[in-house]
Amino acid sequence: MKHHLLEICYLIGSVTFIIGMKMMGNAKTARKGNLIGATGMIIAILGTIFLYNKTIVNEQGFEQPYKIPTLIYGLIFGAIALGTVIGWMTAKKVQMTKMPELVSMFNGMGGACAALIGLMEFEHYPGQVGPLIPIIAGLVIGSVSFSGSIIAYLKLNGTMNKPIRLPAYNIINTVVMIGVFGFASWIVYAASADGGSLWGMLKDGTGAPVMSGSAAMMLYLLFAAALVYGILFTVPIGGADMPVVISLLNSFTGLAAAFGGFLYDNYVMLTGGILVGSAGTLLTLEMCKAMNRPLSNVIFGAFGGGGATTGGPDVKGSIKDVQVSDLAVMMNYSKKVVIVPGYGLAVAQAQHVIHELEMILEERGVEVKYAIHPVAGRMPGHMNVLLAESNVAYEKLVEMDDINPEFEQTDVVLIVGANDVVNPAAKSDPSSPIYGMPILEVDRAKNVIVNKRSMNAGYAGIDNLLFYDPKCSMFFGDAKKALTELVAELKTME
Ligand code: NDP
Repeated sequence: MKHHLLEICYLIGSVTFIIGMKMMGNAKTARKGNLIGATGMIIAILGTIFLYNKTIVNEQGFEQPYKIPTLIYGLIFGAIALGTVIGWMTAKKVQMTKMPELVSMFNGMGGACAALIGLMEFEHYPGQVGPLIPIIAGLVIGSVSFSGSIIAYLKLNGTMNKPIRLPAYNIINTVVMIGVFGFASWIVYAASADGGSLWGMLKDGTGAPVMSGSAAMMLYLLFAAALVYGILFTVPIGGADMPVVISLLNSFTGLAAAFGGFLYDNYVMLTGGILVGSAGTLLTLEMCKAMNRPLSNVIFGAFGGGGATTGGPDVKGSIKDVQVSDLAVMMNYSKKVVIVPGYGLAVAQAQHVIHELEMILEERGVEVKYAIHPVAGRMPGHMNVLLAESNVAYEKLVEMDDINPEFEQTDVVLIVGANDVVNPAAKSDPSSPIYGMPILEVDRAKNVIVNKRSMNAGYAGIDNLLFYDPKCSMFFGDAKKALTELVAELKTME
């Protein structure tokens, strides 16, 4: 009976994960989808704690039910409570722009769990190749994901902001990767009935073989080697590519969890793992497509390591800036304005004031739209989430391919804290590191206004020739402050 109830809990868990995931595809339903998935996870966890039928073999060699001691329940719920409080508080406090760091840290924890399962379960399956394969695979992939995610976290929060590249790091990494997989395969072989050498002659009370000291050493050596590979894999990757790497590591964690599902014959773990693994892989590929760069170039290309200008086009010409009063007049008498939001908008938390600007202009008969580049900001969907926060209507957000043909009929393009996603070097300069990335073709509009604080580069670390275009004027200042002044100026023009 208990067993059937547990299966039902797992089925509910699996179905809610799929429904939740589907709902997360739309900003309007995403929050609800997240809650549905989390409820399914709670049901699966409580089901496992209270309904799992564990048996042990008694001294006479018969299987008998195992009653979990109250102390163990206390420890389980204590750990859950501690984890919930830490997770809840961290997620509540985190700023939107720091979200990729948080995702990276949480993902690392998932990888660590998968690795710990491998470390704990190895000795329980002597000579059984079937379970040993998912155990070792989960251990290796989980460890790579754990150490890689921690490095990604340190890079994103600026602790590790200097690119570290060993000479010939691509060759070193490939050799280490082959070494780790070779070592893992050997351990599975040696721990199998045929290899046999990893199990000592010792037997425990029930006559089962006990893992020898050398076997334990091999296992921990593999764990350490996989951790080192995770570090070597992530360290040379440029800062601008960290979100892509996090998504890739996320798919690794999903895969490691799915191996746990195979091991325990647990459908909810399998479904959850496969969903995370496939979603992470799809997201990685989508981000690469949006930047028009193959995944191999992200992993081996070391793109955007710094944040300071690292070259780019030979900049000639001068820039001009615009005063807030002139800008207000220009916008007030426009027919059509397109706003291009970027990373700086998120940093300045200017999403509410930009919505106010949009409403004032619309009241005065100006058509206003937002042009959304797929990699604007620092995570996929960053601009959609940010603008949804200030209740900008979803229909006003127009994807790059749809808005590009509209720029010719646009009177003013207002770029707020965006840089790389409007850089014409992506189209015209084959030597540029962003060459080939599709961009918002803002230079087709009649007037281009760029709001940012200085002439500093964006995340790719390259200059932007758009700022020197005769059609372009700079509106310098922090986005929130500058837009608040613009809104105030527009209000005086009633
Ligand atoms: P960028 O990083 O190119 O530029 C942001 C600009 O915002 C900077 O030039 C900065 O200039 C300005 N800025 C910073 N703070 C403020 C502020 N308070 N007020 C006004 N402006 C500010 O951003 P984009 O969104 O254009 O491009 C995103 C980049 O991230 C691309 O290179 C993309 O490839 C990369 N990326 C994004 C991913 C994603 O999923 N979204 C994934 C992988 C990579 P200044 O300092 O002068 O103010």
